[in-house]
Amino acid sequence: MDRLKRKLKAIDGKGYKAYKEIQGTYKGNGFRLHIDYVQGDPFASPSRIRFVVQPLKKPLKNEWLDKRWRKIALEDFLARKLGEAIRNRQTSMRGRMGTGKSGLIAIDEPGQEMMMRTAVIAKRNEVEVRLSIGLPAAGRRILGKHAEMILCEEVPEILLKVIHQIQWKKLEEHIVTADRQQAIRGYLKREKCIAFVANGSILPRESGVSNRPLHRNKAVPFQSPPSLERSISLPDGTTISGMVIPEGVTLIVGGGYHGKSTLLKAIERGIYNHLPGDGREYVITEETACKIRAEDGRRVEKVNISPFISHLPFGKDTNRFSTDGASGSTSEAANIVEALEIGSRCLLIDEDTSATNFLVRDARMQQLVHKDKEPITPFIDRVRDLYEIHGVSSIIVLGGSGDYFDVADRVIMMDEYQPKDVTEEAHKIAKELNNRRQKEGKGEFSSSITRYPLPTSYESAIRGKEKLSVKGRSTILIGRSEIDLSAVEQLTDPSQTRAIAEMIRQLFRNYFHNSFSLKDGIDRLYERIEREGLDIISPYRGQHPGDFALPRKYELAAAINRLRTLQVK
Ligand code: ADP
Ligand code: MG
Repeated sequence: MDRLKRKLKAIDGKGYKAYKEIQGTYKGNGFRLHIDYVQGDPFASPSRIRFVVQPLKKPLKNEWLDKRWRKIALEDFLARKLGEAIRNRQTSMRGRMGTGKSGLIAIDEPGQEMMMRTAVIAKRNEVEVRLSIGLPAAGRRILGKHAEMILCEEVPEILLKVIHQIQWKKLEEHIVTADRQQAIRGYLKREKCIAFVANGSILPRESGVSNRPLHRNKAVPFQSPPSLERSISLPDGTTISGMVIPEGVTLIVGGGYHGKSTLLKAIERGIYNHLPGDGREYVITEETACKIRAEDGRRVEKVNISPFISHLPFGKDTNRFSTDGASGSTSEAANIVEALEIGSRCLLIDEDTSATNFLVRDARMQQLVHKDKEPITPFIDRVRDLYEIHGVSSIIVLGGSGDYFDVADRVIMMDEYQPKDVTEEAHKIAKELNNRRQKEGKGEFSSSITRYPLPTSYESAIRGKEKLSVKGRSTILIGRSEIDLSAVEQLTDPSQTRAIAEMIRQLFRNYFHNSFSLKDGIDRLYERIEREGLDIISPYRGQHPGDFALPRKYELAAAINRLRTLQVK
């Protein structure tokens, strides 16, 4: 560290560019500091440093590191604690000073979910932390003294304190939560169920734009109806009770504002593990479940939507359907077929975000508008085939049509935020009140077509000048081509979006020109990530990789499918 201090003294007061000289590795007492990337000016994106603590005062237990989900929970815990400590520092006396991002210290802190991220890498006797730092300046002059204070004092002080004084009890709780979540996932697989919602769960969020729980005083805790209640034994010797949704077709009905969408949203997010205290930490969903919605205006590239849409005006081909601006129903059909292409085994649909004509066509409309004049085969006529022939379950939120009673294996009614099992009643009503619908859609459901993305898709997006940028959770810019992910609802973290941008680059560079199909290319890339870690998606090998979190295959595929220049063979 003395070497770093001398360098900083030497460049003190010079122009900002002289900071480049401090790039390199420095050894301190019980840690190493890697300054991997130095920003070009005080306003540019901050400098990237890695802080490696080794040895640890108390080594991490092997049993925390050898299981994937436990290692994720452990690293997640450290990232949260480090983030907290760093944030507290930001509001304390030293705070920021100087121009632009001067004095900023930041770690990519997780949200409500625990996911694989690049922020912290834990080994048995070592913890590596990836930070962003704004090297301080007054105007464009280097503030060497201040930089020394940050790099040589504050950062080591804060990080060493968190890492050497881990709150072991809290960490254990974090890991036990992940163990339980894993056990529930195992249970769902074994018992042929697609979702579990524990009794006592708090499903509603603070507000429409927040992912944090609604205050306990204001929320009605979840309580399973007796007929769907199961108790699951957990590895720590406890049991947990709650509602299971078995495979098949499940309908969620109920009056407006009674909590239908809130339940479905919680199920959508149950693909992720949530942190203790989230309220949804024991809401667990089949990991391949995909939210399906209408998304008019999106691009579609040669997707076989023929099970749902055929005979479009002007004889447009729906076996390989392409458009620059899909309609509500064609986009919803494409979203389903694309999810199935990657291997989804469960579809989640909410009336609030669906095209009505995609979900149902009732008897009267069938009489008036003859099938020959209607390109759409509504979902109601495909949902049973999807399950019976292809093993794909559905959960559909629908308050406005009882036609689905005929095709549902079970019907759950939300009544003042409490679920009731009304299956028998609904089936009885379906028998007594014949809706006189004709089943539509000839033949079996089959959408399989393998698509091979062409490398030129990426080249025509970047147009010679490779530049990737990401804005928030929902926008990726590849060259001048924009990918809009705002309707990809199960993507939750901007770090996932950043990861997707890099993964797209890798796929087009290293996989698709070897004529991998979309699915095979994605599968290979994930196999590599599982073997070698998430760092491999970064172009900066052996350095601070950037702030990434692992998305699911479905969200990665969704981004590729929305690339406006995508072309497939
Ligand atoms: P629906 O889809 O049936 O119309 P929503 O799920 O949108 O209803 O819920 C309506 C409102 O009720 C939302 O503001 C939501 O946050 C709130 N809410 C949902 N579930 C609960 C609950 N268990 N306790 C308290 N408020 C809830
Ligand atoms: Mg709703």
